[in-house]
Amino acid sequence: MCGIVGIKANGPVSTEIYDSLIHLQHRGQDAAGIMTYDERMHATKGNGFVRDIFNDHNMLRLSGNTGIGHTRYPTHGGFSHEEVQPFWTEVPYGIALAHNGNLVNYRALAEEITGRQKRYLNTQSDTEVLLYLFSEALGKSDPVDANGGFFESVCKAVEHVFERASGAYSVVSSIVGKGLVVFRDPNGIRPLAKGIRHNPDGTLDYIFSSETTMFYALGYELAGNVLPGEVIFVSESGKYYSRRVKTVQFTPCIFEYVYFSRPDTMMNDVSVYRSRLRMGQNLAEAWLKKHPDVVPDIVIPAPSTANTAALSMAHKLGVRYSEGLYKNPFIGRTFIMPGQQQRKKSVRYKLVPQEIEIRDKKVMIVDDSIVRGTTSKEIVKMVREFGAKEVYFVSACPPVKFPCFYGVDMPTKSELIASSQDESAIEQFIGVDILMYQEISDLQEAVMRKGNHHIDRPCMACLDGNYITQDVDDDKMYEMEIMREKHRNGDDLWQWSKKS
Ligand code: SF4
Repeated sequence: MCGIVGIKANGPVSTEIYDSLIHLQHRGQDAAGIMTYDERMHATKGNGFVRDIFNDHNMLRLSGNTGIGHTRYPTHGGFSHEEVQPFWTEVPYGIALAHNGNLVNYRALAEEITGRQKRYLNTQSDTEVLLYLFSEALGKSDPVDANGGFFESVCKAVEHVFERASGAYSVVSSIVGKGLVVFRDPNGIRPLAKGIRHNPDGTLDYIFSSETTMFYALGYELAGNVLPGEVIFVSESGKYYSRRVKTVQFTPCIFEYVYFSRPDTMMNDVSVYRSRLRMGQNLAEAWLKKHPDVVPDIVIPAPSTANTAALSMAHKLGVRYSEGLYKNPFIGRTFIMPGQQQRKKSVRYKLVPQEIEIRDKKVMIVDDSIVRGTTSKEIVKMVREFGAKEVYFVSACPPVKFPCFYGVDMPTKSELIASSQDESAIEQFIGVDILMYQEISDLQEAVMRKGNHHIDRPCMACLDGNYITQDVDDDKMYEMEIMREKHRNGDDLWQWSKKS
């Protein structure tokens, strides 16, 4: 899972890209990078938090009015410095590219590029493959002039990417001497919002980003989204071009609303915060139907993503909302920390139960989702240790049964507790008196109910197994899971690829 941003402005963009990455830090804490250009490209990349990578010295190098940035949590590729985005190529023009998503057919494409086409891939990252597809097609086209003609070439190159690349990808790319290009896969699975800033001289600045979280701080107004299958080009002179080169269905990721996005984001014209409030309302209604005689004394969120749903659920149930679990804000989110050992260790470091809120009470814990079940189990254990009389556990997300191959770092199928155990077994495993999951239809309703949006239906493949790209069967799932394991372990993918 990653955060991306691209800015084309009438002044230097590096500090605005840095600020944007700070506002996208929650989407990836493993690495970050910025590339800008003036006469030539400038790059700063590194592993770790945004604030630790960039400094006065390396920011000064990032000159230019066009640039892109990326925060990374790897769903593809390893953890080395070479895998940190943006990637770039000198041919043609000088192109830098960053993306958020995951290519389902990465292996086949990489084998074709290195085999039949006899090219060299320097990394195991699908970003390099995307960059190769885009730059190769752009290099073959013949722009008639510097502006309109070049946009035609860009459209053809993106069409080529759409024909070849299956999966989820929202892309920002800067081309030296030309401008900024952005596009989104034909299903629009991963987000990409658009913002405009009006300058006093009448010119416009443009920002494209995974979330809208930095728009207010930087003075941009939300101007919609990059649509599924749409390509946008903002030229050096500030001219704006757009075209939808392929239209399928608009099926954005529902997990962005459940867990991943910051609540203040407007995602695909739906407020993430409001969708979470509605998740809580729907949960309360379901609880009243299923357990009319069970009334908790307090509703406690597993902080912080579940806070909003817990608040509206408590309100609707007429029960006190309590922040009975204090979260240390200086420890990263466990879901996006690699490795089970680290995860197990971090729950207790991260959450501290408040005994005064918990002792002798019937406690309802609301969490955004249950993935492996180990975090939920530990939370329940802590709450019991602090004297809860009864513990109920409510998940704003339905059972997560299938892995994500579209850019969210989900565990493998065998690690997902709901892939092999039913609700009563999970209830026992996490050690609660009552477990209740959100229904899929209620979650979908919570996202789709309000907002002037154009979502046809959200991607819910991790819940219902219906993979939007229609090319994930058992064999593909096996291949993708092996690849993920190899990446996690730092194994060489090519050696495995040649043997298998
Ligand atoms: Fe999002 Fe799940 Fe679809 Fe992945 S499979 S894109 S996490 S809804």
